Amino acid sequence: MMSELKTEEPEKRAPKPKWLRVKLPTGKEYQKVRGLVEEHKLHTICQSGNCPNMGECWGAGTATFMILGNVCTRSCGFCSVSTGRPEEADIAEPYKVAQSIKLMEVKHAVITSVDRDDLEDGGSEIWAATVRAVRKHSPGTTMETLIPDFRGEWHNLQRLIEVAPEIVSHNLETVRRLTRQVRIQAKYDRSLEVLKRLKDAGLKTKSGVMLGLGETRDEVIETMEDLRSVGVDILTLGQYLQPTKQHLPVVEFITPEQFKEYETLGLSMGFRFVESGPLVRSSYHAEKHLF
Ligand code: SF4
Repeated sequence: MMSELKTEEPEKRAPKPKWLRVKLPTGKEYQKVRGLVEEHKLHTICQSGNCPNMGECWGAGTATFMILGNVCTRSCGFCSVSTGRPEEADIAEPYKVAQSIKLMEVKHAVITSVDRDDLEDGGSEIWAATVRAVRKHSPGTTMETLIPDFRGEWHNLQRLIEVAPEIVSHNLETVRRLTRQVRIQAKYDRSLEVLKRLKDAGLKTKSGVMLGLGETRDEVIETMEDLRSVGVDILTLGQYLQPTKQHLPVVEFITPEQFKEYETLGLSMGFRFVESGPLVRSSYHAEKHLF
C-alpha cells in the first residue's frame, strides 16, 4: 500500500536550512530521565522516533509513549512506523506504561498509538485502561492522549471520552486537498468530526498539521478555520521532514517568519495555544497546554 503513495521519483533531498539544526540534549533533569530509561529499559517514542525536542521535553517532565504495539494497520505517506499485521494486543500494556510513567516521574504524559483497524474495538479498551492505570499509579500526572479516528466508530471513541484525559488530541496532519495523499485511509471530515465530538463532550482538544507537503498559505488558513469551527483549543504547526526516501518528499521548507504569521493568525482566530515553528511536533511544549 505504501508504494501506491510514492509514485514520484524521490526528489533529491535539499539540504536542511539552518533553522532545522538542533542542539544535543543536555541538562540535569534530562540526564536523570535518560538514566531511568536506560536502567529500566523503558520504551518511549521520544527515543525511538529520535525526536529533536527530547532534551527539552524530558527536561520539563514530559515524555511520549506509544501503545498498542509498533506495527500499524495504516500506511500514511509521512510516517515511519511499520505497516503490517500487528501482534495481538497486550492486555498488560496499560500497567507497563503506567509503571514507566511512575519510574520516570513523568509529570505530563503524552500517550499515542498506532491505528488498530484490525481490532473490533479499535484498541479503545486498552486506551481507556491505560488512562485509568496511569491515574491509579501516578495520580499527580496529567495526560494528553493523541488518538486515532477509530474509523468513525463512535462507541469506541466514547470509551476515551468516558475516562476524560486532560487533553485529547487528534491530528488532521494536512490540508483537505492533500489528505488522500498523506494519510490514505483517513478522511479530513471524519477527523473534524472526531474533534467535534470530543469538544461536545466537554474535553480540551488539540490538533496538529505538518507543513511543507505542498499546501498553499490559503489552504493552511482554511484548515485552521475548519479546526476552530469544531472548537479545537490547541494547534501545533511544524515542518514535515521526510523520514526516508520512500516517504513523501518535502516540497518546501517553511520559513520561521511564515510559521510566526500562522501563529499570530491562529491566536486571532481564537485558538488558546498555537505552537508554530519548524521543529514543533505534536507533543512539543505539551505540558504548557493544560489550562
Ligand atoms: S495511522 Fe499513525 S502510526 Fe499509522 S501510519 Fe498513519 S501516522 Fe503512522
